[in-house]
Amino acid sequence: MAAAAYELLVLGGGSGGLAGARRAAELGARVALVEPCRLGGTCVNVGCVPKKVMWNTAVHAEFMHDHADYGFEVAGSKFNWRTIKEKRDAYVRRLNEIYENNVKKSNIEIIRGYGKFTSDPEPTVEVDGKKYTAPHILIATGGRPSVPLESEIPGANLGITSDGFFDLQELPRRSVIVGAGYIAVEMAGILSTLGSKSSLLIRHDKGVELDAKGHILVDEFQNTTRKGIYAIGDVCGKALLTPVAIAAGRKLAHRLFEGKQDSKLDYTNIPTVVFSHPPIGTVGLTEDEAVSVHGGENVKIYRTSFTPMYHAVTKRKTKCVMKLVCAGKEEKVVGLHMQGLGCDEMLQGFAVAIKMGATKADFDNTVAIHPTSAEELVTLR
Ligand SMILES: Cc1cc2nc3c(=O)[nH]c(=O)nc-3n(C[C@H](O)[C@H](O)[C@H](O)COP(=O)(O)OP(=O)(O)OC[C@H]3O[C@@H](n4cnc5c(N)ncnc54)[C@H](O)[C@@H]3O)c2cc1C
Repeated sequence: MAAAAYELLVLGGGSGGLAGARRAAELGARVALVEPCRLGGTCVNVGCVPKKVMWNTAVHAEFMHDHADYGFEVAGSKFNWRTIKEKRDAYVRRLNEIYENNVKKSNIEIIRGYGKFTSDPEPTVEVDGKKYTAPHILIATGGRPSVPLESEIPGANLGITSDGFFDLQELPRRSVIVGAGYIAVEMAGILSTLGSKSSLLIRHDKGVELDAKGHILVDEFQNTTRKGIYAIGDVCGKALLTPVAIAAGRKLAHRLFEGKQDSKLDYTNIPTVVFSHPPIGTVGLTEDEAVSVHGGENVKIYRTSFTPMYHAVTKRKTKCVMKLVCAGKEEKVVGLHMQGLGCDEMLQGFAVAIKMGATKADFDNTVAIHPTSAEELVTLR
């Protein structure tokens, strides 16, 4: 028989699992966390964090093209992949320690190993031959990349996934990235900006029957079909982003351990950025989605395209494009999409306004900040 020493048992010490576990512990619950690897999950170890370091590295490479235009004479600079890899890995290790300390400070017990459900009548998890149970069990085990089979694509077994990208000891001279999701676009951008001859293989029809991929089905409160078992984050296959996993974990903890029956994550208007070159920022409905929800006659689009002032003196030019999707007579802003220098940092504030239900008139009534690219969004006609 399993030992039920905890009120919440969390499988997975990534973004969602850690957030849910820590918030539950703050609310007084006795919590144990099962994790076989380093704490922090995908985001910290092989996702957002090391990816952003590499993106920043690539941004440096881009800006170096403009040094001469801004009057700097920097001759013969050479890029050393290993230098940034070592610094990046050391930074991630520091984060692992911080996460581990935070978990310990929260009095959460860490159980090392892979958890798997047993066939016991009570929901029970086995880790390294020992059984555990709790009245609430949260699955936050993340996602896995789907790797093509050798029989489907000869040579597929020679490829690596994004996890392997972070183990590369050298910048590959040539690279082929399969897929066109945000991670593929970001990897291709980093590699090619740093000097690898990169190709992106894009399939035309849409890779989206998520259920067939085995993602766990949950209702809006993260309940699985089994009472007392919940799932959050990438394992559910919806909005695969760190802050989504964190927010869902916290909302669940408030529902289970603070009696907030309505506590659930609102999945609408989740802002997201693709760290491409230049970056893409997007929130809300696309134009097509807005037309299918509101009808074409009720949707108005505002768009602009311009060259950011940064490029006023550079030979290298990249455009900034922006699109506002508005719906109804009051022209409620239901979508904002943009690509250009600084759009990654620009989006968060606008996302707050959109989440609050801002209209085009609200945007227009906001005084512009000049000279910026962001001011274009409050002066669209
Ligand atoms: C290359 C890359 C770049 C990304 N960039 C961004 C970004 O810029 N912004 C953003 O918001 N998101 C980004 N993401 C997505 C983000 O990392 C995920 O959405 C987020 O980590 C999901 O959190 P999670 O808790 O669901 O899962 P994870 O963080 O994957 O954590 C799952 C944890 O569960 C553990 N585990 C697995 N099986 C078991 C088991 N049986 N028992 C116990 N533990 C188990 C794993 O070891 C892991 O630690 C990126 C992802 C990748 C791969």
